[in-house]
Amino acid sequence: CGIVAYIGHREACPIIIKGLRRLEYRGYDSAGVALLNGQLSVYKKKGKVAELEAFISDKNTHANIGMGHTRWATHGEPNDVNAHPHYSTSERIAIIHNGIIENYAALKTHLQQQGHIFHSDTDTEVFVNLIEEIQKQNSCTLEEAVRLALHEVVGAYAIVVLSKDEPGQLIAARKGSPLVIGVGKDEFFLASDATPIIEYTNEVVYVNDYEIVVIKNGQLDIRTKEDVQQTPYIQKLELEL
Ligand code: GLU
Repeated sequence: CGIVAYIGHREACPIIIKGLRRLEYRGYDSAGVALLNGQLSVYKKKGKVAELEAFISDKNTHANIGMGHTRWATHGEPNDVNAHPHYSTSERIAIIHNGIIENYAALKTHLQQQGHIFHSDTDTEVFVNLIEEIQKQNSCTLEEAVRLALHEVVGAYAIVVLSKDEPGQLIAARKGSPLVIGVGKDEFFLASDATPIIEYTNEVVYVNDYEIVVIKNGQLDIRTKEDVQQTPYIQKLELEL
C-alpha cells in the first residue's frame, strides 16, 4: 500500500523507516525493507512499522540504496512470508509492489515450469521471477528485463526493483498505482505520495502510467515501456512542513 525508496549519499534505512511511518495513514498489515550494499538484504514483518524497526535494530542496515513497503494484502494472508520485499528465486533481485497483478496465476504456472521456486502466496513474487526469467533468457540489463516484463503483466502496479548484479541503481515503474520521485542534490527519493519526500526536497516528478524510471550515477532517466526517453517534468511543491 505504501512505497518509499532512496538512492544517494545518506543512510537509506532511517529515511525509509521514517517515510513508511509517514505513509502509515494509508493503512497496512505488514512492512519490510530491502537494502543494497554489496549484499541485497531483505527484512520484513507482519504488523506495524514499529515491529519492523525492532526486528532490524540488531541487524547491519548500513546502505545508501534501499526500499521499503507497507502491504495491504490482496493475494495471500498477512504474514511475514507474504510481506514485501520479495526476492526472485536466485535471491539476486528484489521487488516491492503496490497493486494487483491480475494474470499472476498463468504467469506463475509458466515460471514454475521453468524452475522458479515460490515461497509466498502473492502476485508480487510472480512479477520479480518474471523479471529474472526475462533477464536470463535475453541476457539483458535489469532495466530492459523490467521493461519487457511490463508488456506481460496485466493489472495495476507501482514497483521498485533492486539487483545485486547492478548494485548502483534503483528501477521503478508504474501503471495505475501512484509513484512520485523526489529530486534532491545528488540523491533521489521515490514514494507513493510526497509526504515522505517533502522534508528533503520540494522538487518532485510524478511518474506517469507505463513509465520506467532508472536512477543511477546521480542521473534520472525516464522512458516509456516502448523505450522512448521522456523529459522529466519537475514540479515545485509548496507544502508546509
Ligand atoms: N498484491 C500485492 C500483495 O498482496 C500488493 C498489495 C499492496 O498493494 O500492498 O502482496
